[in-house]
Amino acid sequence: MPATGLLRDLIRANTTNPPGNETPAVELLRAELDGAGLETKILASEEGRPNLVARLPGPRDRPALVLLSHTDVVGVEADSWSHDPFGGEIADGALWGRGALDMKGIAAMHVAAVVNLVRTADSASREVIFCAVADEETGGALGAEWLLAEHPNAVGFEDGRPAPEVLGEGAFGLSGILDRDVMPIVLGEKQALWIDLIARGEPGHGSMPPASQAPVNLAEVLARVSGFGTPRVHPVMREQFKCLASVASGPRKAVFSGLASRSASVVARALHKPLRSSATIAALLADTITPTTLSAGYKHNVVPGEARASLDCRLLPDTDPERFLAGLRKKAARRGVDVQKRALHDGPVTGSGPLNAVLARVSEGLSEDPVIVPSLTTGMTDLRYFRRAGAAGYGWVPLVLSPELLATIHGHDERIPIDAFGRGVEAMSEVVRRAAS
Ligand SMILES: [Zn+2]
Repeated sequence: MPATGLLRDLIRANTTNPPGNETPAVELLRAELDGAGLETKILASEEGRPNLVARLPGPRDRPALVLLSHTDVVGVEADSWSHDPFGGEIADGALWGRGALDMKGIAAMHVAAVVNLVRTADSASREVIFCAVADEETGGALGAEWLLAEHPNAVGFEDGRPAPEVLGEGAFGLSGILDRDVMPIVLGEKQALWIDLIARGEPGHGSMPPASQAPVNLAEVLARVSGFGTPRVHPVMREQFKCLASVASGPRKAVFSGLASRSASVVARALHKPLRSSATIAALLADTITPTTLSAGYKHNVVPGEARASLDCRLLPDTDPERFLAGLRKKAARRGVDVQKRALHDGPVTGSGPLNAVLARVSEGLSEDPVIVPSLTTGMTDLRYFRRAGAAGYGWVPLVLSPELLATIHGHDERIPIDAFGRGVEAMSEVVRRAAS
């Protein structure tokens, strides 16, 4: 089936997570890969939540090349869409639907790339593994996390063999912001540290405010800690600014050069306020603390004895989470507020390996003279599980999108331009061909 037809059918399989229901999407992928003669296997942590692995055998003294995608999608507010989010309609030169970009479109590219390799190469120079997991959008417990814990050898981890190189999501190419398109190769992600704050105070009657009130204590701590930590430039970002400075002109060149210089972090501190108009850049230059849920009280005239908040803290990859926690505890303790650690999602940053050069080379052909930059991402992807297990993980998606299209990911009207999808299929095939034949 042509890649566009496969993607249309994948979108029509509604895999909104929760609950997931990835089986119909997995069956579509499996049929394509079986048809091309690959050995496919379904590994499921529980019924209805399949992970699909397909292998193209190759010499095992080299690291396997793993193409990693997820088959689940986030929900929709269907009334706000211009086309049925699960219709797979083609209109205005684009294929519309939830998952078109995140990340069924990429799964379809991976399938096309493997099938093209089977059809055009006599044999693979290394093992190639297609892996489409369930459950990414709620954290991967039934998908990548489970797969790596229970079946690491299915995805290229074996004793005595170099750890795999993994290609997954992380960032898209960006057009329309700088003079040239920017194509990122994502080498790492910020750590997500999830925290609960618990404030206590005297309960009582709303008509007679007690001296110490839980909601007030909580609010004071939130106001004090929320936002950006001291800005600094991580080595990967410094490298990115170096690349951007080499192609920029005018005032931008001065900014990028400053952020790439030896005193980069001093420059970042000086520039951070204006840089906050670009939420992504600002977030990649500092640890951040964002309150996401609040709860306290049940009645208008009753002072609650307890108030709670959850914080989504995102730390640069080289921030020590325990030190960060200790600092937060100290600030919260002044108001008698407890800090409880809920979860930490982290993973190492990938160094520059051979696949990096292949990705850079193929990225060059994606648009007219794009600038290729190493990058970090603010969000979490399943690559963190692979990096943690020792793999080199690259977030690379061969699509160059406008800010408007990027905003449709997890938003309304997600869609993929047909011509960009076609170029993406070719680019992904080229990467797999160069890396494995
Ligand atoms: Zn995704």
